[in-house]
Amino acid sequence: MDILHRAIRRAHIAYFSMEIALQPEIHTYSGGLGVLAGDTARSAADLDLPMVFVTLISRQGYVRQQIGDDYAQVSLPDPWSPQDWARPLPHMVAVVIEGRTVWVRPWLYALTCPLGHAVPVILLDTDLEQNAAEDRRITDRLYGGDAAYRLKQEIILGIGGQKLLRVLGFDIRTYHLNEGHAALLTLPLLRATQRPDPRPSDPNEIYDVAAVRDRCVFTTHTPVEAGFDKFDYDLVRRLLGEYVPLDALKALAGPDQLNMTRLALNLSSYVNGVARRHAETTRSLFPGYAISSITNGVHVHRWTQAEIGKLHDRMAPNWGHEPEVLAFADRLEDQPFWEAHQRIKAALVTRIAETTGKQFRVDVPLIGYARRMTAYKRPELLFSDIERLKELARRQPFQIVLAGLAHPSDRGGQEAIQAIGAHVAALDGTIPAAFLSGYNLDLAGALVAGCDIWLNTPLPPLEASGTSGMKAALNGALNLSILDGWWVEGCIEGVTGWSIDHDPKRPNDAAPLYDKLQEVVLPLYYNDRARWTWMMKQSISKIGSSFSSHRMLRRYATEAYMR
Ligand SMILES: *Cc1c(COP(=O)(O)O)cnc(C)c1O
Repeated sequence: MDILHRAIRRAHIAYFSMEIALQPEIHTYSGGLGVLAGDTARSAADLDLPMVFVTLISRQGYVRQQIGDDYAQVSLPDPWSPQDWARPLPHMVAVVIEGRTVWVRPWLYALTCPLGHAVPVILLDTDLEQNAAEDRRITDRLYGGDAAYRLKQEIILGIGGQKLLRVLGFDIRTYHLNEGHAALLTLPLLRATQRPDPRPSDPNEIYDVAAVRDRCVFTTHTPVEAGFDKFDYDLVRRLLGEYVPLDALKALAGPDQLNMTRLALNLSSYVNGVARRHAETTRSLFPGYAISSITNGVHVHRWTQAEIGKLHDRMAPNWGHEPEVLAFADRLEDQPFWEAHQRIKAALVTRIAETTGKQFRVDVPLIGYARRMTAYKRPELLFSDIERLKELARRQPFQIVLAGLAHPSDRGGQEAIQAIGAHVAALDGTIPAAFLSGYNLDLAGALVAGCDIWLNTPLPPLEASGTSGMKAALNGALNLSILDGWWVEGCIEGVTGWSIDHDPKRPNDAAPLYDKLQEVVLPLYYNDRARWTWMMKQSISKIGSSFSSHRMLRRYATEAYMR
């Protein structure tokens, strides 16, 4: 039967996210948040949960990265073809923005899992001839444009998306707000509870706030105040008018600016951070709120390379559906497992050669670093003492591969790419090093599986979770990371990987990283291959069995959705 009709009959949980990474050809994501949403949707399909997913169509994608002279990032549009992957539905809804009627059309993408179950993903599109020229562009560029553009997108996502589900015939009981971007969906929910003859300043008098809270679940992903979406009320009034009375909105979303995180917090009865450490940080940012923690996970079947998956198939055939059985991966036979890893690494080495002309080696350890390029993730820490780095490599050679996109208006991220480019050039002839342009789902999959060591050096406590390290672990790439985000929970020193000491008084000191490489990581690679292989298997067995999106979504289902 048509998956939409089945979902309309049974889905009662709606997951709203500004970005969802569905497949490499569909450019509706920018990074970790979207990949998490995509992995969540896959697990929802696998587990056949009664869910529907809502996001923007982002026809022009996020950023197609080209690396220009001096490693300056050139940020190009990254269009995709919705008609190749999704189908437009005949329904439309109207949202009023800036006094104009803006029509929104849903497209349906059917996310089907190998077991045959599917969940619908609704992609919201305003590129319709009924709309004014500027409104047709609202759902073009993910995270593009100014504050007004962003607020319009969030109106389409929250208000348009909520209305569309109703028009399609969904009977949604629980809304999951994946990050604050979706918080405006609470406004139509509030309006639906409007009481007769209220006193207009107290939202509790006008609306049944408790009833709305009861229906909303909010996951925050940002550990710093500066990262929250905020809009001036002048702008809000200009775009939204008195959709809800401004005084009531201020009481819920903050007196000075509309703070999407605050709005979501005040209108959700279940709120969580994305790792234990992140929930603690969030509690100190928002004292007085009950903040739970559900640590992120990754979709193990999606992120395990086929070569490794084949080995699991023999030992634990249901590993994709029940990732807990990966606990038995420590029983994999060493030789076939090591050879599988080396073949995956060889494929990456070939890819590096094809894209950069640089010859890497399969028998020399490969350090990988790839993620959103932004200051707090400190992509340059590895290069902070080039002489020491070279000295390390003279004694115990290694290779470095990096990738990552910077947001077009993130100066710090752009500069980091340029600085890395300069380091890569300076290392020429001493340490094989390469920056691969165009980081995306496909490249991420090749990197997390083909490296030997997966490096992460965020400035604590700013890495809310981090998920690329989980993907690496699934493939036996060993994490070497500062203890922050998920790694606080995932690291067993010398078993699943290694920590890097961090002294808050000397936050940018790279010596602990170099020491760990020199004294522990590289000697193990060169002198004790058996123990290294054992660690790779420990990493799959301990991390793969517990940091899966199946485990994560089951927890959302039992603790948040079914309250
Ligand atoms: C997993 C993933 C991320 C998130 O990586 P972090 O280590 O959590 O920063 C970002 N982008 C892509 C394409 C990914 O696959």
